[in-house]
Amino acid sequence: MIRIIKNVHVFAPEDVGIKDVLVATNKVIKIADKFEMDSDEEFLETIDGSGLYLFPGLIDGHVHILGGGGEGGYKTRTPELAFSDLVKGGVTTVVGCLGTDGVARSMESLVAKAYGIREEGISAYIYSGSYRLPLKTVTDSIQKDIMMIEPIIGVGEIAISDHRSSAPTIDEFLKVASDARVGGILSGKAGLVNVHLGDGKQMLEFLEYAKLNTEIPLTQFLPTHANRNRELFEVAIQYAKDGGYIDFTTSTVPQFIEEGEVPASEAFLLGLKAGVDKSHMTFTSDGQGSLPLFNESGEFLGLDVGRVTSLYESMCKLHVTYALPLEIALLPVTKNPAKLLKLHHKGRVFEGGDADLLLVDKVTLQISGVMAMGNWLKKDNVIIKKGTFE
Ligand code: ZN
Repeated sequence: MIRIIKNVHVFAPEDVGIKDVLVATNKVIKIADKFEMDSDEEFLETIDGSGLYLFPGLIDGHVHILGGGGEGGYKTRTPELAFSDLVKGGVTTVVGCLGTDGVARSMESLVAKAYGIREEGISAYIYSGSYRLPLKTVTDSIQKDIMMIEPIIGVGEIAISDHRSSAPTIDEFLKVASDARVGGILSGKAGLVNVHLGDGKQMLEFLEYAKLNTEIPLTQFLPTHANRNRELFEVAIQYAKDGGYIDFTTSTVPQFIEEGEVPASEAFLLGLKAGVDKSHMTFTSDGQGSLPLFNESGEFLGLDVGRVTSLYESMCKLHVTYALPLEIALLPVTKNPAKLLKLHHKGRVFEGGDADLLLVDKVTLQISGVMAMGNWLKKDNVIIKKGTFE
């Protein structure tokens, strides 16, 4: 099938103006001022893009696609990701991870879930391992996992500075990072180390140590939840100013904000104001992760669940509430994660790139169309592709 989206305002994410965009099979073939083709051809679909923006499909680099471990016992294990949530949130590339629970949830299940998401039509990758070291892999080694299992593009989320971590030593941590790096180099993948930052006092000490005492470049690490409290946020901003990359979590609940979490959109804005390079900050949703709620005496009240839809909402907030131009607001959810994850065919609208595209109403910023690998998952405001059991 060949599709032409006509008269659409393209943010690639840079503003390239009103264009016609030609898509064939799963690739963007041509972006030009105007195309004329015989519209009687049955293999040709023409879409009127006037009144719409065209964005790259979003990349969500940290989602508990199998569900996460619940802090309130077995009954609070969070549910698997529903495929249509990705479609609703405009996410066309997802990176799945385990999390706190590396026992009742396995790497094998994670690989299978990623393949399932691909079969439904969205690009999916995964990290090897869970919170704890030694890392649980599919094979017997991190390098082998990255080099031999195609969807595995890095390791994580490895917990540091958190009471739920394995209290890893710096040597254990660096050994994992060097294995991931070499696995990445030999396979042409990112070999990224996705690091879960907890509320502990260590904060980013391990990463600062790696910077000063090893040859591992800071592009190898993406510490996440950097916005989880004010103190950590300030340290993370300094780390990013010194050349590091940091990720802000978009899923939240009002109680977390009251307790000091910096909302992702505000965090990005404050980062820019503090002088952090705009390419050094990313957003992830932490979708399907547990968001435990406690009362004032610390008693467990219940759980909420992270949502992948929060990613797009945070991007919109950057543009609507904080008046950042779309070409900047889109960076932490498109081009920046694509670069760090070495998904060079993703995160931008360009000739030869994957046809992962969003059509968005210019006035309301509602996502009216989602195309993933050249196929419509949502069209004319209607979700047309759901998961098998939805
Ligand atoms: Zn985490």
